[in-house]
Amino acid sequence: MATDTTNRAGAPVECDVVIVGGSIAGNYLASMLAGRNLSVHVIEAHETVGLPMKCAGIVSSKILGIMDIPKDLILNRISEARVFSKGKGFISVRIKDRPVVVDRIGLDRHFMGIAAARGATYHLGERATGIEPRADRVLVTTTRGTYAARVLAGCDGAHSVVARHSGIVHDFITGKQAIFQASARGGAFNVNRSCCELHFDPSWNDLFGWVIPAGGAALRVGIAARTHVADLFGTLVRRRFGCPLEEADCRGLIGGVTFTGGTIPVGLPTGCARDRVVLVGDAACQVKASTGGGIVMLAIAAKLAAAAILHAFATCDFSRRSFTRHYQVPFFKRARSSLKMHLAVHVAVKHFTDNDFSRLFSLAGRPSIKRELARTADMDFPIRFILRILGEPGFYWWVAGFLLRDHRILREVLGILLR
Ligand SMILES: Cc1cc2nc3c(=O)[nH]c(=O)nc-3n(C[C@H](O)[C@H](O)[C@H](O)COP(=O)(O)OP(=O)(O)OC[C@H]3O[C@@H](n4cnc5c(N)ncnc54)[C@H](O)[C@@H]3O)c2cc1C
Repeated sequence: MATDTTNRAGAPVECDVVIVGGSIAGNYLASMLAGRNLSVHVIEAHETVGLPMKCAGIVSSKILGIMDIPKDLILNRISEARVFSKGKGFISVRIKDRPVVVDRIGLDRHFMGIAAARGATYHLGERATGIEPRADRVLVTTTRGTYAARVLAGCDGAHSVVARHSGIVHDFITGKQAIFQASARGGAFNVNRSCCELHFDPSWNDLFGWVIPAGGAALRVGIAARTHVADLFGTLVRRRFGCPLEEADCRGLIGGVTFTGGTIPVGLPTGCARDRVVLVGDAACQVKASTGGGIVMLAIAAKLAAAAILHAFATCDFSRRSFTRHYQVPFFKRARSSLKMHLAVHVAVKHFTDNDFSRLFSLAGRPSIKRELARTADMDFPIRFILRILGEPGFYWWVAGFLLRDHRILREVLGILLR
């Protein structure tokens, strides 16, 4: 594998493409650009690709039609979602799509392996610190040296320095997740292996808590919120499993506990194309605000970005206009309305009270809605499903009542949908 960790204090390294961030977006993009007669350099702040893992790894099966994912990186398939509301039990929803649970560390490394085998050079343990546009290059300063790139791709996550250089700073929530194995006598920890759980509660309505069976006896349990994430995580675990994870570990109910966390950008993707610069993935806020999921959207974006970069080299046109036309516009066409809908749902749920959850749960438990959920619900592109259930009289009146209850809710939701 071509990796380079040497210190270069001298002249800038001339290269065609510099990708800042060697995680899923950066590595997938690199795998599509390397071997195309371009010198591709990936700069990754961590020494080891894939770590720390900050993802629950559940992705709609659409991903299998976008990325070529080896079978051994698919740890599980999910066929049912149990949606819990505080103190009200759960409703069960059959998921026709059968989302996959991926080995996220393996996936990041898989695309790194492909990119490196095709000639991309990896600079691990090196952090990009400054971006400086020049007439025919972008200078990227790192903790080890400087690169003069004809194209720069910012795949450096929610706190992207490349995005910041373009004046973009994302709002975000923080996730905390535990990964562990349930033992044979794990009691409440031995969950249904084909069933994921979503836990809603008005006290953590920035997102929800999740329990994801990740193949074998492995579980990923987490929550994301704006504040008090550790406390909320503790509450979720105690409520769901009856005791803290540390205690369960001591009692031999679970083993191999590791904790991870990370930030999830929240908002709408802003401009992801500049002169000689593209942003992909969390760096471009290509994330579904109602679920925190980013993998399908960034995979779609990375494919479009790769095509736009290859087109730029073929035509020697590295302008913002070219990247807008060949990357941003097609991405927005494909995903922006859905991302707006996700954000509108996220903002609406933030105003939910106990009563709203109860009402929504009783509506969602109706056979007609459950049928619609099983038939048309889509984790990524929810517009069709939302329009269909709005046609249900009970739903329609409940949504109208909710939105009109407080003019701020209506203003916020409409503000997003009409943006
Ligand atoms: C707790 C949690 C659970 C999640 N669960 C799911 C899920 O189940 N399904 C789903 O689809 N999505 C999920 N997501 C979202 C998903 O993980 C992200 O959308 C995805 O990882 C974004 O990939 P990325 O490559 O754009 O950014 P990141 O994965 O954030 O990678 C950015 C990379 O850039 C590097 N970097 C940052 N700054 C610099 C710098 N200055 N110089 C060099 N390198 C730098 C970082 O080290 C990192 O490797 C979850 C996120 C969190 C936090």
